[in-house]
Amino acid sequence: MKFKKQIYGMKAYQPGKPIEEVQKEFGLKEVVKLASNENPFGCSPKVKDFIVNNGMNFAIYPDGYAQELRTAVSQHLGVDESQLLFGNGSDDIIAIITRALLYPGVNTVMADPSFSQYSHNAEVEGAEVRKVPLKDGKHDLEKMLEAIDENTSIVWVCNPNNPTGTIVSDEELSSFIEKVPSDVLIVLDEAYFEYITDPAYKDTLHYVEEYPNVLIMRTFSKAYGLAAFRIGYAIGQSKLIATLDPVRAPFNNTVLSQKVAIVALEDQPFIQETVEQTEKGKQQYVEFCNKHGLKYYPSQTNFILFEVKADSDVIFQEMMKRGFIIRSGNALGTPGFIRVSIGTEEQNRKFLSLLEEVLKEQGVLA
Ligand SMILES: *Cc1c(COP(=O)(O)O)cnc(C)c1O
Repeated sequence: MKFKKQIYGMKAYQPGKPIEEVQKEFGLKEVVKLASNENPFGCSPKVKDFIVNNGMNFAIYPDGYAQELRTAVSQHLGVDESQLLFGNGSDDIIAIITRALLYPGVNTVMADPSFSQYSHNAEVEGAEVRKVPLKDGKHDLEKMLEAIDENTSIVWVCNPNNPTGTIVSDEELSSFIEKVPSDVLIVLDEAYFEYITDPAYKDTLHYVEEYPNVLIMRTFSKAYGLAAFRIGYAIGQSKLIATLDPVRAPFNNTVLSQKVAIVALEDQPFIQETVEQTEKGKQQYVEFCNKHGLKYYPSQTNFILFEVKADSDVIFQEMMKRGFIIRSGNALGTPGFIRVSIGTEEQNRKFLSLLEEVLKEQGVLA
């Protein structure tokens, strides 16, 4: 058959291992997944009430324009309704953007390592991927600027960056945006926006007002705890959104997910509590790293990437045997490191005590 030739040899996204699989494989009663940056506190309890009590007609197609959710998000952010594009997770938004702008002969610039879906989707479209190594775990915006040429269509800024958790400061970002040619789309992926506490990050919504080529992506998958429902969105100028919108699948958010996102958005105290608890949990990891002299990246997210001074695949395996699923740095482009999603206080405590045991076994710690 006549597939795009770049499809051959590509692999499907490798997600964190599912809990059930690990339970079966190792005969474990309890398995905790700290691999995909999901919210360990679940989601707003109001969502569960809603799901039990809703009286929806599931035979009817969803509203493709997501009007009710659009109104809620536009009011929450203080932007016009026409400035929003909803996706089946931000993954879908990434696919829409790449499908709209990338094809053989053009290129796209991104940090390395960063979120894998930028390059994955670009490869599907047959575009050239230009990866610019991180500097001290942070985007090297100078080098990214240098990588941009007349054939560049999209530049991605993952802020905070996955897998390092680091942010680009507002100062750095503003001079970068100013210098990027106006015909290059700048995507600011802010999947972890709610978790940011560093004042060096300043709200980026005003860039959308000032620059027709800036698009922000946010999601309900992380702090809102709704990863299962697949709702992400983009914010840009109305004209940009209208240009991207025809690429979107007609009913890309389900009826239930649209409703649930509205309910979750209304419960901001839940988000505040999540962020507070996550900050405290992160401190447990920072203390562990400091105590044992393990390098870590300052994280503005609900995960932390830190050094294990051993083969990270081995640490990943050993922790899995003990009932914790994490991400090996080998899978993320950061060998010798592991990425751990911040869990509940108890999960973190248990994880770190088992990790200490494993690191001793491996001869890393005395
Ligand atoms: C988790 C994540 C996403 C994907 O989020 P969904 O809305 O669940 O598709 C996008 N970008 C980054 C950086 C992420 O970590």
